[in-house]
Amino acid sequence: MRDLVIDNALIVDGTGVPPYPGALAVQGGRIAEIGAVGAFAGDGSRQLDAQGMTLMPGIIDTHTHYDAQATWDPELRPSSSLGVTTVVMGNCGFTIAPCKPEGREITMRNLTQVEGMSLDVLRSGIEWDFETFPEYLDALERRGSVLNTAAFLGHSSLRTWVMGEDAANRAANENEIAEMAKLVVEAMAAGAVGFATSTAPQHNGYGGIPMPSRLASDDEFRALLNAMGSTGRGMFMLTRGGQTSIPFLEALSDTSGRPVMIAALLHNPMVPNGVFDNLAEIAAANTRGRTLYGQVSCCPLTMEFTLESAYPFEGLAAWRPAMEVPRDALGAMLADPRFRAAVRHELAKPAAIRLFNGEWQKLRVVEVADPAHADLEGRSVAQLAADAGQDPLDYMLDLAGSENLKTLFIAELINSDEEALSRLMTHPDASIALSDAGAHLTFFCDAGFGLHLLGHWHREKQLFSLEQAVWHLTGRPASIFGIPERGVLQAGYHADLLLIDPETVGRSPARRVFDLPGGAPRLTTDPVGVIGTWVNGIQVADENRILASAGHPGQLLRAFTC
Ligand SMILES: [Zn+2]
Repeated sequence: MRDLVIDNALIVDGTGVPPYPGALAVQGGRIAEIGAVGAFAGDGSRQLDAQGMTLMPGIIDTHTHYDAQATWDPELRPSSSLGVTTVVMGNCGFTIAPCKPEGREITMRNLTQVEGMSLDVLRSGIEWDFETFPEYLDALERRGSVLNTAAFLGHSSLRTWVMGEDAANRAANENEIAEMAKLVVEAMAAGAVGFATSTAPQHNGYGGIPMPSRLASDDEFRALLNAMGSTGRGMFMLTRGGQTSIPFLEALSDTSGRPVMIAALLHNPMVPNGVFDNLAEIAAANTRGRTLYGQVSCCPLTMEFTLESAYPFEGLAAWRPAMEVPRDALGAMLADPRFRAAVRHELAKPAAIRLFNGEWQKLRVVEVADPAHADLEGRSVAQLAADAGQDPLDYMLDLAGSENLKTLFIAELINSDEEALSRLMTHPDASIALSDAGAHLTFFCDAGFGLHLLGHWHREKQLFSLEQAVWHLTGRPASIFGIPERGVLQAGYHADLLLIDPETVGRSPARRVFDLPGGAPRLTTDPVGVIGTWVNGIQVADENRILASAGHPGQLLRAFTC
């Protein structure tokens, strides 16, 4: 007897070969055998007739931020309901380990902005049963998880561990760099998937202080990459700011021998060639024998925000005063004509790496706080400002100011040009990821990116064949990150499976729920056309929900071939 037989399925195995009808048997958490339809009839303790639906490997989401959430939510919502079976966390280097007890407060403060979680949520949520990175992995393993999990060592945590509060203020000295390098080697030995960092200007902590990794010198990057290189494995992941050139990253890859995953290659219509120029530089490096990837997203970047925490604007240097003042002084700061003039001045010059470049027609009012303003909902700031004969920045800030900054806006700024996205995603050096699941919780939710790729880009747009779309979500990320025996349906491999209805698969529009610790809100999205998800042979979700009976079949992944 086999534990499970899924019969009469259209098998899309994750290698990119065309689909074929067949049956798949699972035994002891692994794929025992794949055969013709009916080949294992009556062999399964549990026998499932897939009725011709598509059976594929579970989605591997290589850009998530579940580092904090994983300590209080082993179900890793919502990814576990959205066809994902493996997550890589610690991206951009925003992690919670290593962390000394005296560094917890600053670590949580750093996370508030980038994760879109309040300090209260993090304070009441995080279980601090670790200090070092190896202890963090052990704690995750003890706690268990619904999904398979891999973790980066995060640069910002590493700096804070070694430098304390200075981590966000200055470059590291030689001794500090040597100490960090030692810890990189230790983390790789413990099972980190690699080392992650960010030099991006929109990555700020509480009060607008830059994330610590943004203060690293070129020497620090060289030393840490070479330390990882000395272990012979590991992915170097970074979210790139404009001052970090791709030739510099190529040089790091060259001396360390490590592959580099470069995020976030989002198409910005104000600088339409920017990402394509980046990909051309990446491709040129690869012809010289390097292994660089450009991480792209299959989702338009839409962000909901209020002026209490205006992420789309926080990459502007002129916005920093608004991040530094306490909440009760924020209204006055946003009303200050000098503040507004500085923002306007900076916006006048578009920058590829910046989220907002003055495209006021792409900012809309979603929800007003004052019912008297109800007729403004759904309209763009550009239109409303024109009707009122006002400058759009003034209009937005005045409106929000009149509602105690509670007005909810949505920004559909970048990555929404479908022709450009098609070119990006089909580039041979692109890696499709960037869900940011677990982060930016009040701004957007792209945890369902895989279902969106299958529904929108395969079924509706025909950009990819079904087997190509599946490969992008499974076999390819497994091979890029060297995740062994996953991402492909093959006898002997782990039984991470996803059964979908290809006619309906997709994701629902985002909706707000209030289930974070303390009842704080987050955006979430629901699966469409998911019939079942299995992790290591155990069904963890059906078409409606995560199955509590599944327990925590996910494994902490510590061994990689990359
Ligand atoms: Zn990220």
